[in-house]
Amino acid sequence: MAKSVEIKCPECGWKPDGQPHWQCSCGYIWDTFQTAGRCPACSKQWERTACIPSAGGCTAFPLHLDWYDGLDEWLREELERIRQGAPA
Ligand SMILES: [Zn+2]
Ligand SMILES: [Zn+2]
Repeated sequence: MAKSVEIKCPECGWKPDGQPHWQCSCGYIWDTFQTAGRCPACSKQWERTACIPSAGGCTAFPLHLDWYDGLDEWLREELERIRQGAPA
């Protein structure tokens, strides 16, 4: 993408390190930023994404979209489209 969008915690500025820090209620563990907040196992869409204190972050639980710093409207629409589940 042409725009520089940085993914970081809106509260503390922690940047996800590409590791699977997030666990779904179904038990699956993955990197939620690879799927825009959707669990690959059960397809649950997470509106919010927790920051990870054990990886250097804080205990905030912000909206997933709030993690994208510099995200413009076009990209927001793209993410919304992904979230609504484009046919594979
Ligand atoms: Zn799940
Ligand atoms: Zn944080």
